[in-house]
Formats: sequence, structure tokens, C-alpha cells
Amino acid sequence: MSEQVTYVSTRDVDEQIESYSDVLLQGLAPDGGLFVPDAVPQLSADTLRTLSGKPYTELFTHVKGLLVGQDIPAQAQRQIAQGAYNEENFPGAYDGNIVPVYQIQPDLFIQQLSNGPTGAFKDMALQPLARDMDFVLAQRGGWVALLGATSGDTGSSAEAAVKGLNTMGLVMLSPETGMSAFQRAQMGRLSGENIYNVSIPGRFDDCQNIVKAIKKDPEFAHLGAVNSINWGRVASQIPYYVSGYLQAVGENIGQPVDFVVPTGNFGNVLAGHIARKMGVPIRKLIVATNENNVLDRLIQTGVYEKPVEAQITTSPSMDITVASNYERLVYELFSNDPTLTSKYMREFERTGRVDFADFGLPADVLQKLGFDSGSSTAQNRLDTIAWVYHIGGGIIDPHTADAVYVARHKKASGVPMVCMSTALPVKFEDTVREAIGHVPPREPRFAHVEAEGQGGFDLVPNSPEAVKDYLRRKIGSFAQL
Ligand SMILES: *Cc1c(COP(=O)(O)O)cnc(C)c1O
Repeated sequence: MSEQVTYVSTRDVDEQIESYSDVLLQGLAPDGGLFVPDAVPQLSADTLRTLSGKPYTELFTHVKGLLVGQDIPAQAQRQIAQGAYNEENFPGAYDGNIVPVYQIQPDLFIQQLSNGPTGAFKDMALQPLARDMDFVLAQRGGWVALLGATSGDTGSSAEAAVKGLNTMGLVMLSPETGMSAFQRAQMGRLSGENIYNVSIPGRFDDCQNIVKAIKKDPEFAHLGAVNSINWGRVASQIPYYVSGYLQAVGENIGQPVDFVVPTGNFGNVLAGHIARKMGVPIRKLIVATNENNVLDRLIQTGVYEKPVEAQITTSPSMDITVASNYERLVYELFSNDPTLTSKYMREFERTGRVDFADFGLPADVLQKLGFDSGSSTAQNRLDTIAWVYHIGGGIIDPHTADAVYVARHKKASGVPMVCMSTALPVKFEDTVREAIGHVPPREPRFAHVEAEGQGGFDLVPNSPEAVKDYLRRKIGSFAQL
């Protein structure tokens, strides 16, 4: 942990170097690019052996420490990990292993990433992210207002992480319709103190567009971000790949493993790619999508093409048409050239379509880099939930089912496959009931969510100006820290 890790923006031709704290508080780089590590730190086979069997908080502190450096001292990082992944947040954790891997078939595993406070894997990253920000802000003596938009899982996960911290306040925009009653109530019950829930009469895209418009206004330029382009989120997701790998191979460190990842914004699978670059023997990262299969088509054809709009599916947290984190991979494909990266991304932003062929790259360049892909339909997911249940693999949610479906339909290669479980079935009970005729009993912490979360939302008109007024009224001044 003695080396100082540094970051650059994917679009910065001057290659200005930033530290972890700076990229954490900025979110998006000022030039519109995303921050990536200048050089990826390495995990040797010996280190992997040492980490095998360690409690998750220890493994996390070591691996993430390589990406944070001196900005947060090791002892503080350990406390952050212990606070984020404590028993209250992860009551279902077994023996301190909060990301357990279990086998459902020869060579087919599930890694459970959704034991956190809101029942979605986003807790794995947002719990430590809020604490990292709190640490840095406390040191600098600052306070920051965060503004976000959610279609469901991000909202409650970010709110659960930020609630009660006195260095920040969070305003979360969500569409008035479209979220499940459970998701809405999970957010509503966290309103108050430093959490503001705003309901927008419109769709998720409207909420996201309002956030983008407000951030362009100099008055609000210093609002912070908790969405998945924040490098702090990616950094906190890398350790569970290390743990998942070690659990899947046991003594056979060095044996290759494939991971299958239910994907929307490309944040989770990008963390897997960084873990692989750090030295974890991951053979393939298999991107699993639903009917919104932009990334599947990209990996198979080399063409990245945005559809007119996202389809609403039974795995709604993956209903995304633009995968924000993909730019980090684009930068690598262009050998860290910010000019080519900007050109490719601008072409996409302008026309909604880019083809590797027009940039001198082979159509299968992502496959050559170790990615593969597949997608599922609503029926495939129902069938897969039923199949896993009938073979004794337990009850999975529709996002996890997407990954298991894609894994089962890849040709057997003798390499173990680990499917990431990104949500608990309690969040999507209607689909689970349709698949197997019943739902698992609710854990006590989720038993009365709908009843507890009545209300808690301020209704604000669907326009950036209306939300700006709301921010001025609720938060006051937005001076630079
Ligand atoms: C956010 C989310 C995903 C997609 O993750 P990305 O990092 O955006 O690719 C998948 N499943 C669930 C349940 C989620 O909440």
C-alpha cells in the first residue's frame, strides 16, 4: 500500500494526474471523460494465496488499498470496510463471508452479492463509497450536496449508505411511476435528515436528463455524484471478484475461472476486468443482458448502437441503453489515446451508432480481450428461476436468472463459471411467484417495507428549473468547497 496510485481522465490530452480523493469527489472528469488508473496495481499469485480464506473485510482492505493509496490511511480503510460490511448491514452473512460462492452444478457456481441492507449488489459499492467520501470531506472540512437519479436500486442503496452522515446531503430523483411498490417504499422510509426523495412525473430518462442539465449550470457545478461512473464505486467492486475467484478454485490458485455478470451500466463487469488486469486468473467475463441487449450485440458484432428507447423488462435494473462505464474500456482499446476515445464517444453521442471497423479495430476486439456475451427473454428468466429451484439451487431473482441462463447456454469448456447474484428475490416477488408459484419467507428486516415506506416523496414538476428551485429551497447555497 506504499505506492501512490494515480488517475487520468479518458478524454484529457494533457494527462493531468489526480489522486483517489479527487476522483472520488469529482465523479465525472471536467472534460466529460471518466477517471481510470494510470497504471493498474498487481496482485501476485503469492498475495492471492495469502488472501485466500481471509475475512472479507481484510481482503477488501488489501485489494482496494492498492487503488486508494495514501489518501485514506490503511487503518481508516480497515474501519471503513468494517463499518460498511458489518453485521447490521449484512445480517445474512455466514462466518464473516458476505460474498459467499455456492455450487449448483458441476462447474456452475453462484456468488451472492446482495446480502446488503437494500438487497441489491449496489450496497457492496455504495456502503464503502459514502464512507470514503465522508472521510475525505471530514479531513477537508467540507460538506457536499449529492444529486442522483434512480430507476429503483441505486436510490435506496445510496440513501442507506449516506443516511445520517453529516458531511453530505443526498437529493434523489425518481420517476413517479415505474418502480415496484417495494422499491418505492425502500426509498420513502429513508426520507428525512440528510435524505430528500423527489418524485418526478415522468420516466427515469427524464430524471437523468434533469440531473445532466442541472450539472451544466455553473451554480450547481459542485454537486457530487453517486452514480456508477464514480471510480470509487468500481474500486469497491473489484475485491469481490478476488474473493469469488478464491472461493471457486480453493487450493488450485492459478486455475482459470469465468464470471457471468448481469449487466446494465457496465460497472460490475468493468470491475471484473480490472481484477483480471491486476492478476486474478479470470479467463472470460461474460456480459449477460436482458431484452435490452446493446452490449451483447456490441461484443458479438463490434457495433455499438443505441435503440430508440429502453424496453421495460422483468429485470428492470438492467433496462439501460447507454452503458456509462464502457468508455473506460474504449480507452484501453485505443491504447490509452484520449483523442481517439473522445472521437469514438462523440460519434456515439452524436449519431447513436459507432462501429469498430470505422476506427481500425477488428469487429471481435472485445472477444479477443476476454469478453463474451449473451441475453435472455422474460420466458428464459422464468424457466431459469424454476430450473435452479428444482435442482436444489435455491430461489434466485430475475437478474441472477439472466446470468444463469446465459451461462447454461454457453458451450461447456471445463472452466468453472461463477454467476453473480445481484439482487434478492424479495425485491422482485411477482416474477418469482410466476416462476415457481410461491416466494421465500421474508427476512424480518424486509417484512414490513411497503407499510413503513408510505409517503416520503416531494413531488416536483418535470423540469430542470423546478428541481433547481427545490435544491435552493432545501439545501441553500452551492458554493465551492
Ligand atoms: C444495477 C444492477 C445491475 C447492473 O449492474 P451494472 O453495474 O450497471 O452493469 C444488475 N442487477 C441488479 C439487481 C442491479 O441493481
